[in-house]
Amino acid sequence: MNPIPLPRCTLVGAGPGDPELLNLNSAKAIAGATVLLVDDLVNDAVLEHAKPDARIIHVGKRGGCASTPQAFIHKLMVQAVREGETVVRLKGGDPFIFGRGGEEVEHLREEGIEVEVINGITSGLAGLSSLGAPLTHRDRAHGVVFVTGHAKPGDAGTDWAALAHTAHQAKLTLVIYMGVSSLHHIQDGLLEGLPTSTPVAIVQNASLPHQREALTTLGQLTDTMTREGLQSPSIIVVGDVVQGARAWQAAPTAYQRAA
Ligand code: SAH
Repeated sequence: MNPIPLPRCTLVGAGPGDPELLNLNSAKAIAGATVLLVDDLVNDAVLEHAKPDARIIHVGKRGGCASTPQAFIHKLMVQAVREGETVVRLKGGDPFIFGRGGEEVEHLREEGIEVEVINGITSGLAGLSSLGAPLTHRDRAHGVVFVTGHAKPGDAGTDWAALAHTAHQAKLTLVIYMGVSSLHHIQDGLLEGLPTSTPVAIVQNASLPHQREALTTLGQLTDTMTREGLQSPSIIVVGDVVQGARAWQAAPTAYQRAA
């Protein structure tokens, strides 16, 4: 006897911004959807793959100000699946790197809905790659930590000093998401365990035509951010791998002096 098929929903990663970075599986899932629930960091250009009569619902919440509460997004997804729609939940970057994809999957499973996940290129990877540098390097970093600068309300959040000590000892690159609004606090904590001269890259709107970036050091991080007027959405990469950026290699002493 065949099991009764479970109703389905697909969480799809739209990549960091450049619509050409969408992968083939993601494009196929978008093309097959009858309902798409779309986050606001998703580039609208990827919706060109959708059927002309697909229902597109924007459910973004930029910079922490909730335009659509998470509970309402859950409700919309469940309702659409129950109505027999082919539902795609389209999320920026990778659906399982921040952005609450894990919570969405758990909620759907609790409701008896089977979830498929299609990865996307996370912005934390695209940011430093766009400057020509890797996140790992045999001589500079043995691993990478993806970490959020934005804790859940009521949560103490990341212990930046502890993380800095570990990163220093274990030679790890730190890739900070959602760090712009707490940058002072993050910088102060990291300086307890990492040298002021630690290289840092800030990349705003990675992979998009209006991408902006700055290279600096940990000691100069907030000053650089303010001077350059960089804002959210930005990725902040902390560690020696930043020395691999094209601009750093072209003029290394400019950054050493800034420390
Ligand atoms: N799931 C997403 C991350 C969602 S959290 C991913 O994998 O990329 C939202 C944060 O991601 C933003 O605050 C910012 O830190 C980062 N971000 C998303 N898109 C970005 C982009 N194009 N450039 C720089 N940072 C980006």
